[in-house]
Amino acid sequence: MNEKYEAVIGLEVHAQLLTESKAFCGCSTKFGNSPNSNICPICLGHPGILPVLNKKVVELTVLMGLATNCTINEKSIFARKNYFYPDLPKGYQISQYEEPICENGYVDITFPDESTKRIGLTRIHMEEDAGKLIHDQSYETLVDVNRCGVALMEIVSEPDMHTAQEAYLYLSKIKQFVQYLNICDGNMEEGSLRCDANVSVRIKGEKKLGTKAEIKNMNSFRNVEKAINYEIERQIDILEDGGTIIQETLLWDADRNEVHSMRSKEEAHDYKYFPDPDLMPVIVSNQWKSEIANQMPELPEVRKERLVGKYSLPKYDAEILTQTKSIADYYEQVIETTADYKSASNWIMTDVLKVINDEKIDIKDFPIPPGNLGELINLIKEGTISGKIAKEVFPLMLKENKKPSQIVKEKNLVQITDSSEIEKIVEKILGNNSHQVKQYINGEGKVFGFFVGQIMRETKGKANPKVVNDLLKEKLELLKN
Ligand code: ADP
Ligand code: MG
Ligand code: ZN
Repeated sequence: MNEKYEAVIGLEVHAQLLTESKAFCGCSTKFGNSPNSNICPICLGHPGILPVLNKKVVELTVLMGLATNCTINEKSIFARKNYFYPDLPKGYQISQYEEPICENGYVDITFPDESTKRIGLTRIHMEEDAGKLIHDQSYETLVDVNRCGVALMEIVSEPDMHTAQEAYLYLSKIKQFVQYLNICDGNMEEGSLRCDANVSVRIKGEKKLGTKAEIKNMNSFRNVEKAINYEIERQIDILEDGGTIIQETLLWDADRNEVHSMRSKEEAHDYKYFPDPDLMPVIVSNQWKSEIANQMPELPEVRKERLVGKYSLPKYDAEILTQTKSIADYYEQVIETTADYKSASNWIMTDVLKVINDEKIDIKDFPIPPGNLGELINLIKEGTISGKIAKEVFPLMLKENKKPSQIVKEKNLVQITDSSEIEKIVEKILGNNSHQVKQYINGEGKVFGFFVGQIMRETKGKANPKVVNDLLKEKLELLKN
């Protein structure tokens, strides 16, 4: 980035709430039902209907507000945001405008070097989703209104971020919170977590904010990062050429890695917001607020500390394991079976997460039940198999849902610890390699590894490495004298 400039970024994040029914009617929120089947006169906005607020929507939003250090307003109101679009049959979206439910919070983001930065949250408000337009037919656009009225929470940040990395870390933090709080599944690819990025640039040292552009349509974390970097460069180029930035809404094109203008940005007054006359103000009493606070699950920071304290894990491990609640849950399920806490952490951080990332699956869909991984770790610890053999058993466990002990038995992989058996093999290998034995006797210590390799080959990796080492050393020392 050009050294003269500083970028300013604020994010608006929409999280689809995990409620069974919609925000203002009893319709199901179930994903994948046939198009236009989860509907009723209320979410279609027929004349004379009366919406009724789903209590769960308030509870989940307050929970998020409390977790992110917001003030919870005792009274908040719903507003109508009026606009026309084919995915919005009512002609307006029920949202909150003035007097949102949560305000003035913050989250702390952590950089790879462990330094932190505080990002302010302007507000969190409740609103409803619109339907979906499907453009993949050649000449027609189809409308599916199942999503109309599904509850959303919008989290609006202060313009506190200055790099794409900060935006990425902030978004990761929000995702981590909504998942830990069981508010939203946090899936950007499927659109249950959506992010609009507001980007402007200004000359370094300048206090006044530059004109911003808002980028939409980024359906992955990587795309958010890429789009912001692209937009920063685009704006700097315009300014350097003596141009001016126009306030507009841009769409990110992930195939071409560039933005397209969608529309010149509407102003709030274009929406003719007004308080929704059909809905009562939302009153969150102190008592209700503390009832919600009492349901607060363990947050990522606290869980991280607990993993360090209770299982003596390095901070680094705890950070990775608590990245998502489901990984932390998986870890704690594995160590119900094994007391080797650090090995369990190693297996998850390397072997398990590699599969998860390669296959792009959630750990909930990981094929090895935690108890089986725990058992595998125990088999190593007890000396039944070597660590090396375990790395061969692991892929077999991925393929078939069998206990590792069963696989080890079927494939005859049990470690040879019987020293008389290993001794015979050691002698055989030394006998077959007199040249290398001479080298060893002449002080070439590095051929030791060669012997170990030969023995392991002979036993198909099953010999207990410690016994092999001890016996080999003993025999070679004898030959030396
Ligand atoms: P709008 O009414 O256009 O939606 P808001 O004032 O509600 O604008 O702000 C929306 C988001 O844009 C917020 O996250 C805010 O922090 C961010 N934002 C506002 N002004 C700027 C700016 N000049 N540059 C970058 N981000 C900004
Ligand atoms: Mg806005
Ligand atoms: Zn409905």
